Amino acid sequence: MNLATRLGKLPAYLFVDINRKIEEKRARGEDIVSFAIGDPDLPTPSHIIEHMCRAAHDPANHRYPETNGLPELRQAIAEWYKRRFGVVLNSEKEVLPLIGSKEGIGHVTLCFVEPGDIALVTDPGYPVYSMSTLIAGGEPYFMPLTEENDFLPDFNAIPVEVLVKAKLMWLNYPNNPTGATTNLDFFEKAIDFAKDHNLAICHDAPYTEVYFDDQKPPSLLEVPGAKEVAIEFHSLSKTYHMTGWRIGMAVGNAETIDALFRVKSNLDSGIPQAIQHAAIEALRGSQECISEHNAVLQRRRDKLTKVLREIGLTTRMPKATFYVWARVPSGYTSVDFTNKLLDEAGIAVTPGIGYGREGEGYIRLSLTLPDDRLDKAIDRLSNWCR
Ligand SMILES: *Cc1c(COP(=O)(O)O)cnc(C)c1O
Repeated sequence: MNLATRLGKLPAYLFVDINRKIEEKRARGEDIVSFAIGDPDLPTPSHIIEHMCRAAHDPANHRYPETNGLPELRQAIAEWYKRRFGVVLNSEKEVLPLIGSKEGIGHVTLCFVEPGDIALVTDPGYPVYSMSTLIAGGEPYFMPLTEENDFLPDFNAIPVEVLVKAKLMWLNYPNNPTGATTNLDFFEKAIDFAKDHNLAICHDAPYTEVYFDDQKPPSLLEVPGAKEVAIEFHSLSKTYHMTGWRIGMAVGNAETIDALFRVKSNLDSGIPQAIQHAAIEALRGSQECISEHNAVLQRRRDKLTKVLREIGLTTRMPKATFYVWARVPSGYTSVDFTNKLLDEAGIAVTPGIGYGREGEGYIRLSLTLPDDRLDKAIDRLSNWCR
């Protein structure tokens, strides 16, 4: 048997070695506090679960769902965008529910990228943008996100010969892993740039509801004319602590939404309907859980950044997302420093290099660990430094 060559193009998953090391330590009985998991520790709010349980008992929800979801879900998504961002969407043509946004991010690449084409992806970045490009036979071009440029790509630095072959550009704000946010001025520049160079924009925006100090991040679709070139991915995962239920959405440009629907309708059969009903309740019901979750995360962010600075790591205070992106001390690579923290302090973090070359020199710490574990980690960090 011969596996397809496309598999050979996928680089080894960097976190394998570190995860194995954590497992070995835990098997020996060592207590490792992990900042490595980007998954909310608090449960899905109970009003959402109750809705899902009721829907699960209804035989109407036991059959194959439609690929494009329930009309009521598409409407609830459109209403939510209107309420939250003032963005008007046609729920039939500009909204597509997804089995978690990761699935749509992977599949939309198939709508644009042919062998020899380029996708512009952020570095550091969520690995799916570049991996799906490789699977499609295309080539990722990495746009560096540097601290000097506030973790925004510099469009003028992209070579002309790259732009000729580029079909789409990925953006992600609020950003994983850097925690950076941006504003409508930047989004407007991105859209002008995409129009000038005949690019589609895919904006991955699962963290717009994970924000601090009441500063709500914008949607790229708030820019007038954005829908001519852009779609935006959103997810119930981080907003309502629903990572395990798998539900998200793509919204925006009708032609792209239709293309994505055509790919998906040949590969999947939609989202289990009880989960769609849970999502309708999440989007239409009380939104209080969002400020409650953010208050918890903000307290954790303040505590963690304080101790990181005390032990000499420089870090910006993230305004959104549940990630703290910290510079490692000079003389260490991100992997060296990750191993040192693990061996000497019993603390697991993710090395920045795992998110791309520009992630070298950084580590990512996630705020999604219970408060008592965070306090334990903070004690360990202060003692370790002494
Ligand atoms: C979590 C995450 C996603 C995927 O979320 P889903 O659970 O698949 O909806 C997409 N992009 C980024 C940057 C993420 O951090």
